[in-house]
Amino acid sequence: MRPSAPPTLHLRPGRDKPVRGRHPWIFSGAVARLEGEVEPGSLGRVRTAEGEELGWASLNPRSQILGRMLSWQPEARIDEAFWRARLAEALDLRAALPDSPLADPEGACRLVHAESDGLPGLVIDRYGPFLVLQALTAGIEVLKQDLAAWTAELWRAATGRDCAGIYERSDVDVRAKEGLAEQVGPLWGEAPPPRLWLREALGKPLAGGAGPAEVRLPVDIASGHKTGAYLDQAVNRRRVAAYARGRRVLNAFCYTGGFGLHALAAGAASLTQMDSSATALAAGAEALERAGLGGPGEGAAGAVEWVEADAFTQLRRWRDAGRQWDLIVLDPPKFVQHAGQIAKAGRAYKDINLLALKLLAPGGILASFSCSGLVSPDLFLQILHGAALDAGRDLCIVETLGQAPDHPVRLSFPEGRYLKGLLGRVV
Ligand code: SAH
Repeated sequence: MRPSAPPTLHLRPGRDKPVRGRHPWIFSGAVARLEGEVEPGSLGRVRTAEGEELGWASLNPRSQILGRMLSWQPEARIDEAFWRARLAEALDLRAALPDSPLADPEGACRLVHAESDGLPGLVIDRYGPFLVLQALTAGIEVLKQDLAAWTAELWRAATGRDCAGIYERSDVDVRAKEGLAEQVGPLWGEAPPPRLWLREALGKPLAGGAGPAEVRLPVDIASGHKTGAYLDQAVNRRRVAAYARGRRVLNAFCYTGGFGLHALAAGAASLTQMDSSATALAAGAEALERAGLGGPGEGAAGAVEWVEADAFTQLRRWRDAGRQWDLIVLDPPKFVQHAGQIAKAGRAYKDINLLALKLLAPGGILASFSCSGLVSPDLFLQILHGAALDAGRDLCIVETLGQAPDHPVRLSFPEGRYLKGLLGRVV
């Protein structure tokens, strides 16, 4: 796999610091020249302006991120054994988590979190016996077939269970930045069924929860959002549900309603699920029924409301109508794709949080999230502060939330931390 004369990326003078700090990205501005035949996805050596070898990167001349470091050892061989070792390490990290998310045959979790697992550009999520692969970079694109086969083997070794199939969901905007078209379809083994019902594999079951209910989420691998579900919220769904007993709950930007489902299982008095996607709401309604919470006369079923609407408009309508809730979850989509959008996104976050604060009854709880990596935790806190001031409410943060531990963050790659959540009480 290693060519006899690999290409070389030569850094500009003084631009070696991020690489030495183990940041995996080499931006085109830091590169003096590429030497040799470089195709998108080629493996190359990385050298300082003085000629010192810093390691190996996967290269893509079409991307602003020209190099992605794979190894900081100039003597490393980036061969099949290298990739297998990285994949095995990623699986090991999950296996070693409390409540190992690999254990439940019908569980779902993230197996590979790209740069954070030393595998730049590769995401692999697991839904029961099916895996879903996202190739975000040219370096992964050229290897994806092999990576799929190796992962299936490692999965079997780690769990003793067969992987049924690996499906590709490389339908993400960032591929355009790499000069890659979107790609979706079976990659290895069987194609997944249109709908799977899975348990979230992370987070402890609710202690003393009234849950009649075994909570399972609907996952449509081929057509759902992301790779089929928002796995990063798995732990937070239970954290937030722990506040739900006896409360009227509004779950805004609910997708298939995971937060609301857990809240009902934990004894919420009523539930309003709101999203702009009719398909997601329909799947969510089925999930409630399967959990024994959705049929007439069962559980809090009479008090479940499904609202298909634009949240910005609907929250205003409810404010004007004087509606009130005791627990509101705000989990909007990513508002910031690039740094130029931060200010505008800040206003959008402030807008929905301000409205939500006005909809909360005294003593109410707000669980507010931002999955925009470019909005820092500090900025998010400031935005909420601004919203509270303008709403004339005082919010006291009692829990600070983040992405589930199967979405780890390397200290050398802070960009891997993107999901922030604040849970506060109106005082
Ligand atoms: N809370 C969900 C994930 C939410 S992702 C979970 O736990 O699974 C963001 C959701 O916001 C998506 O389901 C998307 O359909 C929805 N959405 C995007 N823009 C919206 C808008 N303007 N109004 C309402 N919903 C919106």
